Amino acid sequence: MTKSSILGYPRIGANREWKKALEAYWAGKLEEEAFTAELKRIRLEHLSKLQASGLDWIPVNDFSLYDHILDTATMFGIVPERFAYNGGPVSLQTYYGIARGTTDATAGEMTKWFNTNYHYIVPELTNVTVQLTENKPLAAYEEAKQELGINGKPVIVGPLTLVKLAKGYHKSDLSQWINKLVPVYVEVLQQLQAAGVEWVQIDEPVLVTKLNEDELASLQYIYETFAKQVPNINILLQTYFESVEQYEQVIALPVQGIGLDFAQGSEGNLASLQRFGFPSDKVLGAGIIDGRNIWGASLTEKVALLDKIVTFTSNEKLVVQSSCSLLHVPVTVQAETNLDEELKNALAFADEKVNEIVTLTKIVNNANRAAFATTLQENELRYQSFQTSANRRKEEVRAAITKIVSEPIVRNTPFVKRYEQQQAHLQLPLFPTTTIGSFPQTAEVRKARLQWRKQEWSNEQYEQFIHAEIDKWIALQEEIGLDVLVHGEFERTDMVEFFGEKLAGFAFTKNGWVQSYGSRCVKPPVIYADVAFEEAMTVAETKYAQSLTSKPVKGMLTGPITIMNWSFVRDDLPREQIAYQLAYALRQEVEALEQAGIAIIQVDEPAVREGLPLKEEEQATYLDWSVKAFRLTTGSVQPSTQIHTHMCYCEFHDMIDVIDKMDADVISIETSRSHGELIHSFEVDTYSKGIGLGVYDIHSPRVPQTEEMSQMIDRALRVLDPKIFWINPDCGLKTRGQAETIAALKNMVEATEVARARY
Ligand code: GLN
Ligand code: ZN
Repeated sequence: MTKSSILGYPRIGANREWKKALEAYWAGKLEEEAFTAELKRIRLEHLSKLQASGLDWIPVNDFSLYDHILDTATMFGIVPERFAYNGGPVSLQTYYGIARGTTDATAGEMTKWFNTNYHYIVPELTNVTVQLTENKPLAAYEEAKQELGINGKPVIVGPLTLVKLAKGYHKSDLSQWINKLVPVYVEVLQQLQAAGVEWVQIDEPVLVTKLNEDELASLQYIYETFAKQVPNINILLQTYFESVEQYEQVIALPVQGIGLDFAQGSEGNLASLQRFGFPSDKVLGAGIIDGRNIWGASLTEKVALLDKIVTFTSNEKLVVQSSCSLLHVPVTVQAETNLDEELKNALAFADEKVNEIVTLTKIVNNANRAAFATTLQENELRYQSFQTSANRRKEEVRAAITKIVSEPIVRNTPFVKRYEQQQAHLQLPLFPTTTIGSFPQTAEVRKARLQWRKQEWSNEQYEQFIHAEIDKWIALQEEIGLDVLVHGEFERTDMVEFFGEKLAGFAFTKNGWVQSYGSRCVKPPVIYADVAFEEAMTVAETKYAQSLTSKPVKGMLTGPITIMNWSFVRDDLPREQIAYQLAYALRQEVEALEQAGIAIIQVDEPAVREGLPLKEEEQATYLDWSVKAFRLTTGSVQPSTQIHTHMCYCEFHDMIDVIDKMDADVISIETSRSHGELIHSFEVDTYSKGIGLGVYDIHSPRVPQTEEMSQMIDRALRVLDPKIFWINPDCGLKTRGQAETIAALKNMVEATEVARARY
């Protein structure tokens, strides 16, 4: 019989109970005991739900107190030196200390989990003694068994992935760290084996990336050792987010099962099955339900896919599963009472995906398929009605885009010439100063927006409030002495949501939260139909701000790639096309701003790099059309209109070519995280367009001193041409307080004056 399984379930709870519990505990509003009890309640509730769904293999230890990589690291005593840890179970205090920082020790670095929007805490392997501090998977297994009679499937991050994602060691020492970790993993597995665990899922997502010889040898060593020392447990070696890179080596490992992604990695994995087959003694975990998107599946298509996959194995050796953990999708569509019926019917979040998996498993297990004819028919009808819905297509948009992208999209005047024109027209001094866009979103601003949303405030009242904020901040910016002003983005909740709400093609869920990092959840907009410009989105506020001052006010937009990467997107169109649709809509906004007399327009693209495909061979194509989308957005303006972009932090040396091709007149980037490196990359590469290096870190409430910023400026000017140099903070200031923002910007202007006096 074919089994059903998922790789992990969301932790946050249908109403974000998990988030609330964590935050209450951190705030001291929940004692440790009550906190632990609440987490247990949430965990058991999830398990009961999965049990009731009829799922065969229920994951345990996928739950976490913050992050599963941090769980794995602390389970093995991997605690950064600065936390003065000396063995034994890691206390909650230390655990959250690593996650969030303490007054004495900075937090562990947080970084993106592959190409998802989930972030994990990077383990640090400097001076740590690897030891088993507690067997978390065992505790999770026993809890599920005792409380609910579930024979769970413990989920553990594998040793190769753990070490590869860690830092603080030399790459050439990888195998040494593997050697230290394998014995403690063996201990964990032996205890699981003794407790009666049948299947354990070991996650090795790094297997979808290219491994070197050393890493491959370690992989071999790890799984051979497990096979020898824990012979009576079944290991399902799980991969996800793409197709397996070294397929032949992976399927030859002495494990009992291998999990493959047939959503993101479908093409590659099917090709490998075709070419190399699949070992008949192993179980094949077929990840056919996409754990990364929110769309319901065509069961008919999935049955066909399963029928194809099963030809490489047998019904008995097949497990129907999600392509990755369901951590990356919201909990349930049931709460979505405000959505259009057609759209709501097309969605599947975690609970609905579990049902799809269970249903598909029933279908493939039943000798009499005809028994499911109605189920399949109903599903197909719903699926097709959404796929072919006229509401989702805008022919004029598609035609216009096809036409524009068939020709080269370039600004007609070369940079040097247009930059001269711009600076002359704008009358900017040497080293122009500016900010990245947002000013403090105080409690007052948020409250005003809420009142307006709840319709307690009229549109006029809200507009008046926003105008008053703009008045205040234009006056403040003039007083501070900034050269290029901004309106402050007070009307925006979020840089993506704001535009999504004003463009056609977007929908917003009520409760579609997913975990981004720790207790922080995001609710990405849903792009379900062709995107189109409806009316000007930013012109009114920008124009109003410009009317208050003789200094130039910079218009502020979020770029197409960032909007796309921070949304859930439809899966019936290539991402490239969605990017062009967004770009074409934003292009109309850029033109509207220019028409309204705005001479500087910034298009933020902080998320370009994070959308980079995992497969190296696909990266160039992605970057190509990302650049094209940016140029589509900005390329139609007059030479005298200055285009800025802001990319937050970016590894400049890797991106220099891409940034250059985007052809913005000025780019601002964050430097505080790696100032030295960044300056170095300018010594090696040449960049000749306008560039604003963030001279202070906006993530900290500390007011930077003039002297510190002067040093940053001097260092940069040693390698950069003064003519193209701009001075600005690292990023937007919306999370900062008013007083500290004013003080910091005053110091920044002072540091600029010092620099000007020298040149
Ligand atoms: N313009 C945006 C702001 O200032 C940019 C935010 C970002 O880079 N993430 O808030
Ligand atoms: Zn930024």
